Formats: sequence, structure tokens, C-alpha cells
Amino acid sequence: MDHHARTPPPDGDPAAVADALTRSGAFVECVFHCPECAVAGTGLVRPAALVGRLCAACGDPVVVSVLERD
Ligand SMILES: [Zn+2]
Repeated sequence: MDHHARTPPPDGDPAAVADALTRSGAFVECVFHCPECAVAGTGLVRPAALVGRLCAACGDPVVVSVLERD
């Protein structure tokens, strides 16, 4: 994999696509948790969108932890 594709392969497996996105720095993998209503989950988020992320359920700010992988 030394070609410089900027977009992930459309039929690639999701883990590989996520890996390509996080390696590129366009997205970071994170875990979020809402202290208000206890909704929690994981997802790929643009670094600029990490601050001020709001709970989808109640609209309160969520606690976000970035998963570091290498
Ligand atoms: Zn909430």
C-alpha cells in the first residue's frame, strides 16, 4: 500500500477505511460519553469537531476521549 489514494476504496472493509482516515489525520477515532443521560458510543470525528460536541439524545456537551493507535 504505497500508492497515494486520498480517498479510501469504496468496497474496502470498514476497519481498513477507518484506519486510512485516522492515519491521514482527517479523522480521529474517539469514545464519547454523556454524563447527563449516559449515552455513550464511539465514532470517527474530525479533530476540529471534537470541541463542543453535543449529545445526540439530550443536547448537553459530551465527554470525548480520543483513541490513540499506532
Ligand atoms: Zn445526553
